[in-house]
Amino acid sequence: MPAPLATIQCLGASKTVTGSKFLVQTDERRLLVDCGLYQGLKTLRLRNWDPLPIDVHRIDAVALTHAHIDHTGYLPRLIKDGFSGPVTATEGTRDLARILLPDSGHLQEEEAAYHNKRGTSKHNPALPLYTAEEGAAAAEKVTAVGYDKPVQLLPGLLATFRRAGHILGSASIHVGLGAGAASRQLVFSGDVGRYAAPILLDPEPLGDADYVFVESTYGDRLHDTTPIPDQLERVVRAAIDRGGALVVPAFAVGRTQELIYHLRNLEDAGRIPRLPTFVDSPMAIEATALYCSHPEDLDPDTAKPVLAGMCPLHTGRFQLARSVEDSRKINDVRGTAVIIAASGMATGGRILHHLQRRLPDPKTTVLLVGFQAPGTRGRLIQDGARTIRIFGEDVPVHAHVDVIHGLSAHSDANGLLRWLRTASGRPRHVFVVHGELGAADTLAGRIRAELGWDASVPDYREVVTLD
Ligand SMILES: [Zn+2]
Repeated sequence: MPAPLATIQCLGASKTVTGSKFLVQTDERRLLVDCGLYQGLKTLRLRNWDPLPIDVHRIDAVALTHAHIDHTGYLPRLIKDGFSGPVTATEGTRDLARILLPDSGHLQEEEAAYHNKRGTSKHNPALPLYTAEEGAAAAEKVTAVGYDKPVQLLPGLLATFRRAGHILGSASIHVGLGAGAASRQLVFSGDVGRYAAPILLDPEPLGDADYVFVESTYGDRLHDTTPIPDQLERVVRAAIDRGGALVVPAFAVGRTQELIYHLRNLEDAGRIPRLPTFVDSPMAIEATALYCSHPEDLDPDTAKPVLAGMCPLHTGRFQLARSVEDSRKINDVRGTAVIIAASGMATGGRILHHLQRRLPDPKTTVLLVGFQAPGTRGRLIQDGARTIRIFGEDVPVHAHVDVIHGLSAHSDANGLLRWLRTASGRPRHVFVVHGELGAADTLAGRIRAELGWDASVPDYREVVTLD
């Protein structure tokens, strides 16, 4: 029996959404595609402390699909544990990682300090997985490459990064394995963005693909087809009627920019008044500037003003809160104002201060604009919790809670199938990853039934063999 071409071990994002890590092993080489952190439930987060089932010194290279922490946030730890090979990503991903990885280290340090203060860790002292400084150093290890050009990740191992339309810099990674008749194309979708979404170009066609690892965050769901501007107009108008703030927990990267884009368009069309809009997140402010410095990622509508030297990502009465002082001043704002702050699932960040202050007020509207992972405050709010624990205090929820699903940076199940259908031929197998078990199973079922392809959902740490 011939030796297998390669094996892939799923070291994360298997039957769950976070912790993306796929170890590609050939006879000679070991490539880690994505190096993500587990987020959300404690049982998952504890996995961040499990040693990898491979000596990290034996990993030759890392390639990153995009900058979200559940795809990159383990990189500083990998380097701390001895990984010293090349790390490759697109330019947008490299630039975003310079913001996101130090921030992730900062959060790790904060968490360790919290446990040490309270004595709530088994370890004495509790240590961060890595520090802000180590996060920053890891980002500097990333070598940036352009889209659509095959690049040599390792001797004999070519990869192509194709736009995935999910966030700035996001890509699907196509890895060429073997040679001649035995050559195979292995594709990691990363996170697949929505078609016809504003700001970013659409996901590129899948093309040649023998094996596909496809995400399934929304594998069992369809986005609301009501146009986003209509949904947002309704929410803003209702918030104005209630008379209180419209508080939006939003990812600093992607969601915040899209929200601003839609608010501005609604204002320009006279569909909503020009409300004071606060972006209370230094990271979101930096990320917005990065979007406007990477026209290669942008759709023509957004690229045009950017190429003319104007960043269109702002509203009419736009205020950026960089300092803590700026942030505090937002507390004094009365009447309806839009307050956008991270984190997107209210797991940390400045949004917590706004929620603590505004959740007890029935005039407040909280708008959830993305996937809320189980175990997060965002999910509890979405599920109608009467109180939410913030800074050790049980905060009553009297605010009105609204949800817009379609603003997600992910394709829904139909979008994922649409992307898969852009394959040039029938793949040998599709591995459905990066989704909760129900979502992954449902998508795998639809791939088998509607496309007639082999598809399965691999387990955590399962090794699959490609031939
Ligand atoms: Zn993502």
